[in-house]
Amino acid sequence: MFTKKINKKETTISVDLDEPLTSNSCSKLIIESMKYILYQKQQIPFPYDTLLQLQKTNKPTNKNNNTIKNLLATIELITDELTCQLHTNECDVREVIIVIGATPVSPKFLVKFELPDNILSSKKHMEYQHSYRKPLLTLMRCLIKSDEFQDAMALPQGPTNTFVLVQKSDASTKSDFFLPKPQYTPPIQTSTCISIKIKHNDTINPNCTCMNIVKIHHDNDESSVDDIPINIIQICTKKPYLWYQSKEVVKGFKYIG
Ligand SMILES: [Zn+2]
Repeated sequence: MFTKKINKKETTISVDLDEPLTSNSCSKLIIESMKYILYQKQQIPFPYDTLLQLQKTNKPTNKNNNTIKNLLATIELITDELTCQLHTNECDVREVIIVIGATPVSPKFLVKFELPDNILSSKKHMEYQHSYRKPLLTLMRCLIKSDEFQDAMALPQGPTNTFVLVQKSDASTKSDFFLPKPQYTPPIQTSTCISIKIKHNDTINPNCTCMNIVKIHHDNDESSVDDIPINIIQICTKKPYLWYQSKEVVKGFKYIG
């Protein structure tokens, strides 16, 4: 849990977790950080939860309704698709980046999440035994404690686009939501970049009883692939790591009063 400045622009924040992540909790960490960043960087006029409330309580004539509705739908879709990518056995997601700027090539600001390589499958592990809350708290604490991160948040930024890209080795059926960008390299040198390295101890025993419960549920499950350790699948079918960009773009906006 420390912050190290590599050069003028790139900052690395190490987040050491005491517990393993599942595909669900990992996705949750990334999306919750994105919601926080969107608000801090003034891409959304209110915190995400407030927008959810406004959608319910605004008068039907309110000029902001459509914008809010579209933004919430976009984030929900990105959440579902990202979770799905992390779930898929043949798909190994190594990094996720959130890019704020007119295009993903020349952004003002970029947050990179480096993911641990031993994420547990939420198909085999139950959410209540692996809550996202403690890892999320650890992550947020690291972000709030980092002066460089807070400085980056404080830099003024008018409403623009936010892109989500994943770097993955994917032997599964291609996602029709994350589209290949084979030539892409994150512009770390030319924009303010925060790298968040999420790590947990390799030797951590999941210390859960999920296996017993899941076995009963999936007794007649056809998904025999699920029983093969993920590293063996990767040795057999390893594809190169490439960048894929989310089809949907989060559009920043200001509230019309
Ligand atoms: Zn478990």
